[in-house]
Amino acid sequence: MSYLFAYKRYRLPLRQPLRTAHGSWAEREGILLRLEDESGRVGFGEIAPLPWFGTETMAQAEEICRKFGSSVEDAVLDAVPMQFGCVRFALAQARAEFVGRGLRTPPRGEAGFGNPALHRLPVAALLPAGREALAVLPAKLEAGYLTFKWKVGVGAVDDEIGLLDDLLAALPAYTKLRLDANGAWDRRSAAKWLARCAERPVELVEQPVQPEDEATLLGLAADFPVTLALDESVTGLAAAQRWQGLGWPGVFVIKPALAGPLDEMAAWITTTQADVVLSSAIETALGRAAILRLALTQPLTKRALGFGIGDIFGDRRWDGPFLGPVLDRSWVDAVNPVKMWDAAKT
Ligand code: MG
Repeated sequence: MSYLFAYKRYRLPLRQPLRTAHGSWAEREGILLRLEDESGRVGFGEIAPLPWFGTETMAQAEEICRKFGSSVEDAVLDAVPMQFGCVRFALAQARAEFVGRGLRTPPRGEAGFGNPALHRLPVAALLPAGREALAVLPAKLEAGYLTFKWKVGVGAVDDEIGLLDDLLAALPAYTKLRLDANGAWDRRSAAKWLARCAERPVELVEQPVQPEDEATLLGLAADFPVTLALDESVTGLAAAQRWQGLGWPGVFVIKPALAGPLDEMAAWITTTQADVVLSSAIETALGRAAILRLALTQPLTKRALGFGIGDIFGDRRWDGPFLGPVLDRSWVDAVNPVKMWDAAKT
């Protein structure tokens, strides 16, 4: 099969710069792509690289798109190498439209839609680092969130450990708290934290130490009864599979927009029963809708989604879902790839 191919770059300022372990992040760059098959059917996909997270760069992604030219064969699309997970995600998203599994395909007949439990999924609320988390919490509780994620590893260890108890005291027993250290701790700080968490109702702790420190990650997982999650360690599916081979006993935070074709990710989870949190890579609503559509269709995870990012761009054309502690199908169905394509500048 041969397709007409086109792509557009986008550049969107974030409403508020994000503080990350790699400095401040103020705008999201990416690429929207469009495929049209011989019968005139059209599919769209989004490439949203995070190079500091270990993905391909924008320049590499654009180079691949440029080489496709204006007309491209299946064999060429299939030959994009594994390490270009963001490009492969986008191509698979666009091609899903041609096999009846895309955003623009009505959901009728899909297995998951016979099961009402799959129509709704919980979403985790993000709490800011430090004491500010306590100020933000009441409104999030009021809104009905059941899972909260708190950024740690930003301030001094003892200060933050003190705040943990304040936070837990403010959380009703039916809620869950996850911590995300973004690799900021050394082994000693991590051990201190995990000893404390072991006696407390903490759902999981994300990336306690740097991804390079594999022996410490495995050691901490063996030494403490706290559930640990790998995030920065597992940019692509291949990395998650490698950690599985090493016997990782915890959770994998998967950012599907970085991890290659969605159906490959789903098959991995289903086949290996991997315990995952599905999480946003700050892609736009176009890529996000494909991910959430899949999550609402197949039973991939019982854990709250890491998609509580709502209006990160401050522009309704690119943002969403506007949460809501619970995600349902309505937002996904309302995303219109054609409008987003038209809105993107070349
Ligand atoms: Mg994380």
